[in-house]
Amino acid sequence: MLLEIKNISKKYGKITALNDVSLTLDAGVYGLLGPNGAGKSTLIQIITGNTASTSGQVFYNEKNVKDHEKAYKKVLGYVPQSQGIYDNFSAKKFLEYIAVLKAIPKREVSSEVHHVLEVVGLLEVQNRKLGGFSGGMRQRVLIAQALLGNPEIIILDEPTAGLDPKERIKIRNFISRIAENKIILIATHVVSDVESIAKKIILLGSGTVCLEGTPNMLCELLNGKVFECILDANQFEKIESSVIVSNLQEMPNGKLQARILGDESVKREFEQQKIPIQLVFPNLQDVYLATFAKK
Ligand code: ADP
Repeated sequence: MLLEIKNISKKYGKITALNDVSLTLDAGVYGLLGPNGAGKSTLIQIITGNTASTSGQVFYNEKNVKDHEKAYKKVLGYVPQSQGIYDNFSAKKFLEYIAVLKAIPKREVSSEVHHVLEVVGLLEVQNRKLGGFSGGMRQRVLIAQALLGNPEIIILDEPTAGLDPKERIKIRNFISRIAENKIILIATHVVSDVESIAKKIILLGSGTVCLEGTPNMLCELLNGKVFECILDANQFEKIESSVIVSNLQEMPNGKLQARILGDESVKREFEQQKIPIQLVFPNLQDVYLATFAKK
């Protein structure tokens, strides 16, 4: 399976939402990371065929998806960003309804719905109304509907938006569980949504691909530019404006433990001020900040 996005551009009037984006995806989980307004949703709308590009094409297994719309829709599962699902439906009824919309043969609907409910761990509450579901449960219902028909491609737009940390972890685990032999693309601005499960990360900023590679490759690129130090509030105030702060924690003794991005000159400056500073290996959050944070 091979999904190719070739030279996609999208303009909304004078706004260029995407500018010549090309990507090649085979089986595995991909994280499409970028801040709000980067163009993630627009790209997803184009890949799912809900919006037309201004130029460029999408190919699946070397066929232009525009020319094979029906077949493409069959292999595509989409988990939308909005949680606008039918509050008065039970989880089971809702999924049966979607199964019919997806033209799943009548005799298979019941077993398919049972299967996807099992995958997302909602079998026990299948007859409860969606209106009473928590945000995380609703999101699992949305994932379940995308799994109906066993699609080869699954696209998720901000799958953990509005969820608490515990629910986020659950959703992440479900995604990695369903990932086998599928192309999964997750658009998010939350690094931890994809950090541990994506084989490849695509950093999208202002409508262009800024960086792409395995999480390790991207972290390696920043090696030598991430430091940790312990300092007091006064010292921190002095350096705050000249570095990017990736993490800041107050310690029991009142001092601050800071993780900062900078180069050799930052290190020298710290040493001059007699603040001990230690080089650490970058993580994906550091890479995200180095790419998108403004000093
Ligand atoms: P993201 O999903 O990364 O937050 P979007 O794809 O929603 O980014 O938006 C990319 C850019 O395109 C933004 O500048 C946004 O304001 C603009 N945009 C998105 N949708 C529309 C639209 N329907 N009409 C006009 N501008 C839009």
